[in-house]
Amino acid sequence: MTAAPLARTVDFQPGERNVFFHLLTACNLACRHCYINPAQHGAATLPLATVLQWLKLFARPERQTNLILLGGEPTLHPDLAAVIQAAKSMRYAVTVDSNGYLFHDLLDRITPKELDYLSFSLDGPDATVNDPIRGEGVFAICTGNIRRAVAQGFNTSLIYTVSGLNIEHLHRMPALLADLGVRRFFIQVIGLRGNPAAHKPDGAVNWQVEPAQWLSVVPRVAAEAARLGIHVIYPKVYLDPAEVFQCAGIVAENFFIFPNGRVYQCPLCEDHPIHSYEIKDNQLLHRDGLNEDRFFPLTIPEGCVMNRLLQPDNIAYHPDGSPVHRISCCLLKQEIRPAAL
Ligand code: SF4
Ligand code: SF4
Repeated sequence: MTAAPLARTVDFQPGERNVFFHLLTACNLACRHCYINPAQHGAATLPLATVLQWLKLFARPERQTNLILLGGEPTLHPDLAAVIQAAKSMRYAVTVDSNGYLFHDLLDRITPKELDYLSFSLDGPDATVNDPIRGEGVFAICTGNIRRAVAQGFNTSLIYTVSGLNIEHLHRMPALLADLGVRRFFIQVIGLRGNPAAHKPDGAVNWQVEPAQWLSVVPRVAAEAARLGIHVIYPKVYLDPAEVFQCAGIVAENFFIFPNGRVYQCPLCEDHPIHSYEIKDNQLLHRDGLNEDRFFPLTIPEGCVMNRLLQPDNIAYHPDGSPVHRISCCLLKQEIRPAAL
């Protein structure tokens, strides 16, 4: 009998940098939980020349820098292949997060060597679960393109956003991923930004997942995926009593760039004009004032300050007023690597 692979918390690595670059906000889909908010993020598609200038602002060839190209749907950008190639030449490790449609023949315009990971989003193990969330016909197109990408030799990963609409079906994902040949599995938690902040889903189901349900389902499914040879990453969400709280805004370097030039350090803040930086005339400028970075050093019993301010419904309290769980930084991850990796 083999021992179950163990989950470990991925501590923030000193010097690690992650650049999440939204090239555009347009998308061919209208997912029910979409967090894109054009009023706050802009509606432009950045021209190639601007993208290259902005990439240079964040490039640090001497340090490991992960670049995640996002939208909207990034493959709608007509110059995505050129962006990927330029980013590689600046020594970024490049991932593209796609909804699976792969417009502009992306797989024929780049090689697996030029792209570290091609990541697909799927929110159910079959069309019956996925398509009511992401759109009619999406499951078939997305899984078809995952198979094509794997057959052409691309490293693929898959993001599953867990909500009250699909958590009961998460346990069927590991077998599907193994069948598709996906190598990395990101389990995400629904955030109360964009659509989920504005609307509750129809009927009795809530978007949010209760702590007990998250803790009883997600680690178990992650371990099962790892048993099938898949590298699994999922958010910590709730800190164990002995764990130290750390805010990524202080101990890590993450940049979330939007087409209107806003640059956030914390994704929870993205619906509000409290970004720490902005890009103006191709220069990265720090913004003075009461912005997100003024909140990062605050210490509260609940853990993450922004979660307390923006998503207070996520926190339960004991009768004495102490929080039942401390909420970790939303960027703190757990991972399970399969034994062979
Ligand atoms: S694919 Fe992404 S950007 Fe497009 S609607 Fe869905 S969540 Fe929003
Ligand atoms: S989610 Fe909370 S802990 Fe993480 S960067 Fe934002 S404010 Fe800091």
